Amino acid sequence: MTLHDDNPRPPCPRCHSTYILKNGSTHHKKQKYLCKNCHYQFIDSPSKKYITPSETQLIHSCLLERISLAGISRITNISLTSVHRIVKSFLRQVPCHIEAQDTSDGDFNLECDELWSFVKSKLNPVWIWVALERSSRKIVGLHFGSRGRDSTQAFWDSLPSEIRDCATVYTDLWKSYIGVIPEEAHQRSRKGSGQTSLVERFNNTIRQRCSRLVRGSLSISRRWFNHERLIWHFVHNYNASLDSA
Ligand SMILES: [Zn+2]
Repeated sequence: MTLHDDNPRPPCPRCHSTYILKNGSTHHKKQKYLCKNCHYQFIDSPSKKYITPSETQLIHSCLLERISLAGISRITNISLTSVHRIVKSFLRQVPCHIEAQDTSDGDFNLECDELWSFVKSKLNPVWIWVALERSSRKIVGLHFGSRGRDSTQAFWDSLPSEIRDCATVYTDLWKSYIGVIPEEAHQRSRKGSGQTSLVERFNNTIRQRCSRLVRGSLSISRRWFNHERLIWHFVHNYNASLDSA
């Protein structure tokens, strides 16, 4: 520090500490600062405003509702650019697998169903394969693909073997299930028979709340990725909500 520091250091935008060190400069020759208290790095009056953890959390929660990114930007008063950045980095971290289930009961009744969705255009259909376990009502399997047997197999293989090995599996009459699900464990019935009503209800919920999220809001090349991750995000929250219910 010099005696004639005519450029007073701004307080930390995150913790408001005034214990600030100069910390080099950006390639646009802007002074960078480092907060000694919370180690946040920042530049003075940056065009990007600091976004608090609770604002970030609010954005993550908004992704579970039928709100566009522009809508999220208006609700939170955070620029659309920043909302995009936060959503992208969040979606990259969403796990694409179901947390380990309590399989101690050893007796599972699965309802499986395929949900039609699309990415960007109806010419790009994505089938969402869902397995719901009746007693916990949790989603125990999720797979994205076509409606063909390869996808049915990939979906079935993605279920934990502890569940696959001792489950009774209720499905509709869709032909792809035949030959994938072991015949002795497979119960097929017409849609509307009630045997798959829990998973059908879940699919209605997810359709109501997730279907429009990806519409025109994120970069084109990433849409498939975003579509999958948003649905995973929804499923993780859905399962967690059953724990706290
Ligand atoms: Zn700080």
